[in-house]
Amino acid sequence: MIAKRYEPFWKTTPLEQMSQTEWESICDGCGKCCLQKLQDDETEEVFYTNLSCHQLNVTSCQCKVYDTRQDKVSTCITLTPDQIDEFHWLPDTCSYRVLHETKILPDWHPLVVGSDKEMLRQGLTVRHYAVSENSVDEEDWETHIIKWVHGMPEPYEIT
Ligand code: SF4
Ligand code: SF4
Repeated sequence: MIAKRYEPFWKTTPLEQMSQTEWESICDGCGKCCLQKLQDDETEEVFYTNLSCHQLNVTSCQCKVYDTRQDKVSTCITLTPDQIDEFHWLPDTCSYRVLHETKILPDWHPLVVGSDKEMLRQGLTVRHYAVSENSVDEEDWETHIIKWVHGMPEPYEIT
């Protein structure tokens, strides 16, 4: 008898049809969306900085106020399936964006590996470079702009 091959839900269920639990498990916990962003007034281009929201625990990459985050931080955005077409502002390694655009989860993803050890080994969370927004004057945020290169941050200067 040939055993039936098990396909995990992220290969068979479109993001829009996932249960709440499935949807939340797609988040790899990298913390990148909790970095502060600056937007060009004219082009509306979004630039990431290495400055983390003050409510992010940089070591664990977990939000300190997850259940009440939008009450505590007015700019905090909750990702929902009906925004899928707007995911272009997320970093290109964000697992929601990757799954939406490629239909495949990366091989370092905690759901694929069974833990976060591979993404930690590859340095794919913000824990090694994020600095709290509270430690830098807002007028200096531009000097903290980064660009992502293969998921890693590199200093970037707006020209
Ligand atoms: S960037 Fe995407 S995968 Fe990373 S923490 Fe934010 S929502 Fe989750
Ligand atoms: S409130 Fe929490 S989830 Fe929202 S941006 Fe800040 S750390 Fe991230």
